[in-house]
Amino acid sequence: MSEYTRTLLPIRWPDGPPKRTYDVVIIGGGGHGLSTAYHLATRHGISNVAVIEADYIASGNTGRNTTIIRANYGIPESIRFYQHSLERYQELEEETGAAILHQARGIVWLAHTEMAMRTERARCAMNEATGAQTFMRTPAELKALIPQLDLTGGGRYPVLGGSHHVQGATARHDRVAWAYASIASQRGVDIFQHTVVTAIRRDGDGGRVLGVDTTAGRIDAGAVLIAAGGRITQVAAMAGLRLPIRTHPLHAFVTNDYAQGFPVILASTELACYVSQTDRGQMLIGAEFDSQPSFSRQSSYSALRSYSYKITRLLPFLRDMRILRTWAGICDISVDYSPIMSATGIDGVYVTTGWGTWGFKAIPAGGEGMAELIATGRPPALIAPFSLDRFRRDHLLADAGSAGTR
Ligand SMILES: Cc1cc2nc3c(=O)[nH]c(=O)nc-3n(C[C@H](O)[C@H](O)[C@H](O)COP(=O)(O)OP(=O)(O)OC[C@H]3O[C@@H](n4cnc5c(N)ncnc54)[C@H](O)[C@@H]3O)c2cc1C
Repeated sequence: MSEYTRTLLPIRWPDGPPKRTYDVVIIGGGGHGLSTAYHLATRHGISNVAVIEADYIASGNTGRNTTIIRANYGIPESIRFYQHSLERYQELEEETGAAILHQARGIVWLAHTEMAMRTERARCAMNEATGAQTFMRTPAELKALIPQLDLTGGGRYPVLGGSHHVQGATARHDRVAWAYASIASQRGVDIFQHTVVTAIRRDGDGGRVLGVDTTAGRIDAGAVLIAAGGRITQVAAMAGLRLPIRTHPLHAFVTNDYAQGFPVILASTELACYVSQTDRGQMLIGAEFDSQPSFSRQSSYSALRSYSYKITRLLPFLRDMRILRTWAGICDISVDYSPIMSATGIDGVYVTTGWGTWGFKAIPAGGEGMAELIATGRPPALIAPFSLDRFRRDHLLADAGSAGTR
């Protein structure tokens, strides 16, 4: 197969409006909705599925993220889940025939204090015990790996060491979404763009789900998956469901090309900032999410200033670069900073949410797990800990320190 045909997998768009009835309706054509549709069709033979997307596919956070794939989390449940997803990404080009531009680069998390060194050492030990490859590096080793790094942190944030997650990677976000959409649609899944779900219908007061109302008409459905990204609380409310989620904007920006090349993904969790180089050679920079909850995708000058200040302490060469473009997405942050992949207590209604600032890396494993849950009624072991009822049972999966964006 040539590189050209690998890149342009066609999507089969439906000829007309949605059918009156589908087995499954998926609200949201982001990575998680599309990956679930793909896995329903390819793994479970369920292709009488409609994906309803309010805008165009991957127009939400899936097409806005900084594409970092990693499994260096701090709790065993998350490490296992994300490691599986990382490995699925490694095979995704082969599996789908789409060029998703997957690149294993390794990711370094710097520590500037003794407290952070302890955290990173614990991370390495937990990762090793649970199947992810993360190793401590000395300042000299880090300097050899990243010659541009200022080990004094601008005289303010000295680098005492760091953890190196060697399988950390990136992939082209919209191609991931298109790869899943293409194959799902070839298998019979109908994907509707520019179609908004306006209501979720239930049988009587509090009964099972009957379907959804959309701007293209009413659809009956046996099951409804809500995969609505930063709009999740608004869409879940249509079914009478309240979730432990708040939506916060997250920004990112790119600079002009850096010809010398930058070998790894570099982050500081203490400073909450990170940087990598895109395929086009631009430096891609992200940092903390806005503390104020909001549904606004406006870029903000204060975020740009804060991100630039922090990242230039670590990489002084960035001071000479120009900011070309900035954007924001709205992130569904759960109260324990872990995702929710779950049935909801409403018969036939499922959610995949809590993907916050970290859900791109989870698209293969998240869709795979949700498809199995919907098809069989049972959550596979990898996603079972992430059920919604953990909040009621007080079994939180608290791992804010692994988000890297707060
Ligand atoms: C700036 C930024 C950087 C990030 N960096 C990373 C990173 O490096 N690594 C990582 O792992 N994660 C990262 N993330 C997080 C990641 O992008 C998200 O967690 C992930 O894309 C979530 O995918 P999703 O399918 O759940 O949501 P989305 O991609 O947001 O898709 C939800 C879709 O639902 C649609 N929708 C909403 N309401 C309705 C409705 N009523 N009817 C129909 N459709 C509706 C929306 O239009 C949207 O397309 C980042 C996010 C941002 C914003």
